Amino acid sequence: MSAPGDLTPSTLERIRHDLVGLKMPRALEALDQVVRRLEHGEIGALEAIDMLLAEELTLRENSRIKTALRMGRLATIKTLSGFDFSFQPSLDRDRILTLAQLGFIGRCEVVHFLGPPGTGKSHLAIALGVEAVKAGRSVYFCTLADLLGQLARAEREGRLTERIRFFCRPALLIVDEIGYLPVVPGGGNLFFQLVNARYERGAMVLTSNRGFAEWGEVFGDPVVATALLDRLLHHALVIQIEGSSYRLRQHADLMPEHVRSKATITPPTPAPLRRPRGRPPKNDHITATT
Ligand code: ADP
Ligand code: MG
Repeated sequence: MSAPGDLTPSTLERIRHDLVGLKMPRALEALDQVVRRLEHGEIGALEAIDMLLAEELTLRENSRIKTALRMGRLATIKTLSGFDFSFQPSLDRDRILTLAQLGFIGRCEVVHFLGPPGTGKSHLAIALGVEAVKAGRSVYFCTLADLLGQLARAEREGRLTERIRFFCRPALLIVDEIGYLPVVPGGGNLFFQLVNARYERGAMVLTSNRGFAEWGEVFGDPVVATALLDRLLHHALVIQIEGSSYRLRQHADLMPEHVRSKATITPPTPAPLRRPRGRPPKNDHITATT
């Protein structure tokens, strides 16, 4: 091993040249400072190598994560550390932290976040997506309306199979906002084709402000809803948030009682789907937008 004194200008020049050739811009940037510390005897040669490599690796890792978040359409970044669990006591923090270890992705499970608007469903879904991206898993985020729009367009253009294959590629597909907007005719069918294609092959995180019993109305077709839920509840975790809106927390005194109160959602039993059509939904007051 060479002594620090061996770092002659020509050796340094060669290292600089090599770092450029190896496309290691961050290590190149840090080189002078690392050499200075080496010369002052603050660090040893091995530590100097370690520091340069760590700098470069951090840069690469950050840019990989940035690209993966952009490709996965995770534009608004939400994190688990930014989630205030004390605001939602109905949520089991440990359960969420276990989910963040991402075992559900390997097991190709479906995670459902159910709850009224503003209770953190999208936040938690995105936070799990961000964790997955950090862990090197591929993720794609979309709203149901966006997903159905893309599938409907692909169908019109004769590219449906290709588009379904696209949505099958990510290890984790997040579909946000099931139930906020009415599903266009044929939309349930398209969603079923995708869900069926991903079934037991890829994990999903779904968020909805409507109970499963209402999916017949959400998708405008109880038969399709039953078939969807059959797949989506098979290897599934259902996380129900029964709380008030975080968005409205500073204005709680201005809100009408039915919005302020802890709205709940019909429990996850597919059976009520068979109830006669036309009966008013149990939670029809939960119609606010996100
Ligand atoms: P939902 O999807 O259930 O309608 P969101 O996840 O979009 O609600 O939450 C609404 C806003 O409030 C977002 O900006 C989100 O980051 C924030 N938020 C919600 N719940 C919490 C919480 N418990 N801690 C911190 N921020 C929260
Ligand atoms: Mg939302």
